[in-house]
Amino acid sequence: MKTKPAHVMVVTPHPDDAEYGVAGTVVRWVSQGKEIVYVVCTNGDKGTSDASIKPEELATTREEEQIAAANLLGVREVIFLRRPDQSLEDTPEFRKEIVRLIRMYRPETMVTADPYRRYVWHRDHRITGQVTLDAVFPYARDLHSYPELMREGLYPHKVKEIFFWGTEDVNYRSDISETFHVKLTALRCHKSQVGHIPAQELEERLNERHRLLAEGEDFQLAEGFHRVEIVW
Ligand SMILES: [Zn+2]
Repeated sequence: MKTKPAHVMVVTPHPDDAEYGVAGTVVRWVSQGKEIVYVVCTNGDKGTSDASIKPEELATTREEEQIAAANLLGVREVIFLRRPDQSLEDTPEFRKEIVRLIRMYRPETMVTADPYRRYVWHRDHRITGQVTLDAVFPYARDLHSYPELMREGLYPHKVKEIFFWGTEDVNYRSDISETFHVKLTALRCHKSQVGHIPAQELEERLNERHRLLAEGEDFQLAEGFHRVEIVW
């Protein structure tokens, strides 16, 4: 099994969550020469209120939208796990799938949804965050976790930091003042999700959110994360 090292791995529950969560920061990282890989856990086939769209058509559309957005941002590769929408569970099999990818891509930085956001929070977001966190520590690190991965040549790997989006406990604000417009354009690639929102309204909503997150900083617009540095 060949490894394909990247600097950053973004694990997103649905197509479009990563654009809301981290796209502005992704653009900045790409401009610094970092290589980014997206892992999209579900096919997003329940993300519509239009009864005329069949789930399987929606899944295809959303993959195309995700690829368009990722290309725009400069993401190197998008991996689709194609699990059914609204069906993620914290299982050994799902965890192993993420561990396999961590060991294959060997990122310094992981980005995902905060599993500890309270109350109304999409179950797929909660599960994705939890499984990713557990995959980083201890499973990707430990020699004797999933010995079959070792036999495939996927050796233990230590991730250095995790960024959680959608957090109630922001401890890291990332400057997206210069990259906001690219984030907005990437979000607009997800037409099945944001196509019904008037263009100006979407921009204003997003601008307001990122302006509030930048309060107290010496820049205008921020994405907010709970960042955990892992001391090994
Ligand atoms: Zn989502």
